[in-house]
Amino acid sequence: MLQTDYSSRYSLSHLMEVFPSPGKRYTLSPTPSKWRQRDILIQNWFDHLNDQAPWDLYIHIPFCKSICTFCGCNVKITEGHDQEGIYIDKIIQEWSFYKKEFPQAKVNNLFIGGGTPNALSDKNLARLLENFEFEGLSIELAPQLFTESQAKILSQFKVRRVSFGVQDLDQHVLQNVNRQQKTEDVYNALFLARKYGLGDISIDLIYGMPLQTSHTIEKTFTKILSQYPDLVYYYPLAHVPWQASRQKAYGHFESTAQKQKNILYEKGVNKLNQEGYKNLGFNAFVLKDSSLDYSHSLKRNICSIGSDLSSTLIGLGVSSITSNNKMYLQNHKIIEKYLHSDQKERKLFPIGYIKSEYDISLESIFQKVFEDKVIKDQNYNFTNMTRYGLLEKNKGFYKVTEAGLHFLPHILDQLEKQLHSNNRYS
Ligand code: SF4
Repeated sequence: MLQTDYSSRYSLSHLMEVFPSPGKRYTLSPTPSKWRQRDILIQNWFDHLNDQAPWDLYIHIPFCKSICTFCGCNVKITEGHDQEGIYIDKIIQEWSFYKKEFPQAKVNNLFIGGGTPNALSDKNLARLLENFEFEGLSIELAPQLFTESQAKILSQFKVRRVSFGVQDLDQHVLQNVNRQQKTEDVYNALFLARKYGLGDISIDLIYGMPLQTSHTIEKTFTKILSQYPDLVYYYPLAHVPWQASRQKAYGHFESTAQKQKNILYEKGVNKLNQEGYKNLGFNAFVLKDSSLDYSHSLKRNICSIGSDLSSTLIGLGVSSITSNNKMYLQNHKIIEKYLHSDQKERKLFPIGYIKSEYDISLESIFQKVFEDKVIKDQNYNFTNMTRYGLLEKNKGFYKVTEAGLHFLPHILDQLEKQLHSNNRYS
């Protein structure tokens, strides 16, 4: 069965041993660790921004009610709602600079992520949303905090997708990473999302957490897939050594051995295959016949996968990333610095990157591989990947196989190395 499913003579877990993760996700190229430009004038950014095509917006809400020890996001743990008002004011102020300079600008997608956007009080959630005009909203939600009143608020806006960060359903696994979430919370959240017509439902799951076994993963998938979410993201646990102290703060936290991670991934993928989910690449699996399954020209950015993503993404809030085809910029990563930066008139982005011609070419090549699953052959050498069935060589191009969809970052990594060494686009 594995041979048919993965179009390779090798099992998925074996292929994962042969092709260990290159560690890049290819949503930002180059990655932020290589961004060197400091204190970029906002006017410089405005000069590279045009409002002829609609923009997408991302708003980062950093607040969470408790810390999950595996988490690599920019979060702030809060008990009540005292700090939310000033933070939302700042986001509205940040947006007002854009509105002043580009009064005609239209917003297509509004993405709200975190942190936990639904850690906000009902009043603050509604106030935030009322300050923006947009064509469609995608919002990340914690199922254990999701209430009927939040669902009602969201239903007053054009919601395209709700993404529930579930991660796992096994109680031992969850308690060990300090996450209070019951299976009933998740079922109830999905019920409310459907009752109030909140667009597509996406679920995030993680493999590689301590105490996960193929048995617990199988049970988690059986429960989740019985609810038929439209989209499932199945991510590896992020390796964030700089957060090691947080990860070790509770319970047992030994990194799962790579071999075990591969088995957990394969187990989840088997369940997704059995229930009719199709691999889009980059850990995203879509339910066959759902709206995304029929989307042509699927694109991806740091927020999402979709057919209607804009090439300009404006990031608002602490640590948010802003990008278009010329630049990357990032807001302050420390909330206090973000809140107190240029209170009266915002003048600077603390860090960013101006893309070279080479970066722009690379980005469009990577996007094309994701869209078409094809690489135009320019005397590339993919012998090993072809031998293992990740790519199929045809006249003039390589086609990414079903097996290869699990290894898109590896394929792009190989491609990037060859482009670098041949210096074809510099
Ligand atoms: S709720 Fe989400 S963002 Fe908050 S700490 Fe847990 S994993 Fe991180």
